[in-house]
Amino acid sequence: MQYNYDFEITALAVMLVVLLHFLIIHQFPTDKTRAYLKSLLVCVAECVVNILSSIGIANAENIPAFWNELFAFAFFALEGFCSYYIFCYILMVGEYRKNRFIKMAGMIPFLVFELMVLLTPFFKLFYYFEDGQYHQGIGAWYGYFYIAYYFMLNLILIYAHRKRIIVRIKATIWIYSTVCIVVVLVQLFVRELLLTSFANLTMLLLLYLAMQNTEDLFDPFIKDVANEKAFMIRLSNIVDRSEEKKVLTVYIRNYRYFFSIVDSQSSNEILQMVGTYLVKLCGKLKVFYLEDGVFAVLMETEEDRLRVQEQIQKRFSEGWSFNRNKLHLDLALIIQSYPQDFKTVEEFKNMLEYLIEHAKNAKENRVFEANAQTQKKVHYRNRLEAAIDHAIWNNSFEVYYQPIYSVREKRIVSLEALVRLRDENGEFISPEEFIPIAEKNGSILQIGPQVLEESCRFLLRHVLSNPSLGIRRVHINVSVLQCMRQNLKEVILPILEKYHIPPTMISLEITETLAIRAPEQMEHYMWELEKLGISFALDDYGSGNANCLYLSRFPFQKIKIDKEMVWSSFHNPSARIVLNNEINTLKQLGLPVLVEGIETKEQSDEMERLGVDYIQGFYYGKPMPEEECLRYIRQFNSIPEDYAKQGSR
Ligand code: C2E
Ligand code: CA
Ligand code: CA
Repeated sequence: MQYNYDFEITALAVMLVVLLHFLIIHQFPTDKTRAYLKSLLVCVAECVVNILSSIGIANAENIPAFWNELFAFAFFALEGFCSYYIFCYILMVGEYRKNRFIKMAGMIPFLVFELMVLLTPFFKLFYYFEDGQYHQGIGAWYGYFYIAYYFMLNLILIYAHRKRIIVRIKATIWIYSTVCIVVVLVQLFVRELLLTSFANLTMLLLLYLAMQNTEDLFDPFIKDVANEKAFMIRLSNIVDRSEEKKVLTVYIRNYRYFFSIVDSQSSNEILQMVGTYLVKLCGKLKVFYLEDGVFAVLMETEEDRLRVQEQIQKRFSEGWSFNRNKLHLDLALIIQSYPQDFKTVEEFKNMLEYLIEHAKNAKENRVFEANAQTQKKVHYRNRLEAAIDHAIWNNSFEVYYQPIYSVREKRIVSLEALVRLRDENGEFISPEEFIPIAEKNGSILQIGPQVLEESCRFLLRHVLSNPSLGIRRVHINVSVLQCMRQNLKEVILPILEKYHIPPTMISLEITETLAIRAPEQMEHYMWELEKLGISFALDDYGSGNANCLYLSRFPFQKIKIDKEMVWSSFHNPSARIVLNNEINTLKQLGLPVLVEGIETKEQSDEMERLGVDYIQGFYYGKPMPEEECLRYIRQFNSIPEDYAKQGSR
């Protein structure tokens, strides 16, 4: 029989062009691109064999019989692989690789097919040759069934998981299926026309066009260094295939500092210097730039890791020449191993974030290795984050109120609102633990307004209508992030208006560390709010190392001395002198002073002698839920003398 293989030759030429393009632009080695390359190679091989076999059959009399047998054999063997690989690719894009049932359903017919191919030379299953003539065997029916089976299986998978598969891939497979049907129909009527590779080519081209663009996976500014997206794809492939790997993260601690003093071109050049060095040391597709001065390097073994780590440390200690200057890049290294330290990409990311945070603040150590303890801490932090999220969405933060005692008036005159959060068992989680996390992940921006709103509701319901209570104001803590990111006026005023709360009833507490590095914009907002009647208190005064000169920049009406400073004054004579001086200075500046952390009558008396204006501490009441706090104030303010005599509570 004379076959027409014109279409096969055209298909082969185009496939070779695709293959060449694929190899030259060096597709990023993900599982998907590897699977694609496998399918492409099998299709090319099948196409070549098909052409050779057709030529052989057409010239059977001039060619040794075993040639044709060999080509026919190779053709069927490859045909089995083609359908199976395309199925595997769909498994991968649909992410069903973990489903054993689907895997088996795809693998068994393939194994049967290949077994039949192996047995064909002996039992004439798919084909046989008689007098040099090619004949179909009865097994050819299985061949048709085989193609139809995968065809159906692919369509079922795509339909069942249509939401998970992106439109491009779905379209590719639908188009391919249509082309296959057309090809089969054409071949039924024109048997000598070979079109198998042409159909495969349609699929390969469509998939190639739908494939991730390599340029998307490399950093646009750092040549030869892949980006974070590429790293996450690589990592999820590693996890999927359970490959043992080490990730060495190179973190330039003073990156932000450099970027704040040089232009973006120079900062990219600095990163390029480091990137080029790492690529040279570890290889092109092993180095990734994540963000904020963080590079990740992938390694196979512990020995590699140690060797690379040592060289990197040495290189960084030598300094980097840049624009005729010597730069010192402050290096920290983080080591995480798969599968010991993390089981999923998410776990890796959480742990890295935690370790970077740790590395940022560390004084001595510069190498941070993940271990069981890190895992526990990260796990705990995740639980806290979940509890915070839950409370935000359910509006279930509670607010407790702690009394503030006026020394001159001898009664409770204001309250500090303190947020409370419970875990899933109803136990309290300390704000000292969860507030820093909420600051880091930004949820404080939601917590802050919720606490303010709750406090305003409390004021409206119990304080405004009840002047005899004697409460003039509620202190609200404001966090760093709120001040940096939010326009305080826009957040606060609508809430006050909603509950008809006069601004004079609100005092915002701003910590000393925040005030010291406050941007000008914040000062501006503060003065604006002050004009409207809102007052400000400086919280945790004395916890930083600043002198009090910066105070005049802000409209503070009260200074709250940090409890650590107060406590150390009770057993350390020098600390007592310092505290005494501070109080005198503040009073000379005309700033009322509040001391925190007073737990006993003796401590309270001592503070009164030093001349403080307000006292806050367990002696005058712990933070309490609103009803309890109201009862407490009523009792205290009606008979303050007797109450205080009862001693500490
Ligand atoms: P802070 O603003 O310095 O609040 C005073 C903390 O000292 C409170 O801890 C209070 O319970 C505790 N305290 C008061 N008197 C005494 C005492 O006599 N002895 C002892 N040992 N402790 C005393 P709390 O409620 O655990 O809050 C801790 C920190 O969490 C607060 O420190 C504040 O920085 C932050 N925080 C609390 N609520 C909020 C909030 O609504 N927003 C923001 N941004 N931060 C908050
Ligand atoms: Ca406070
Ligand atoms: Ca404080």
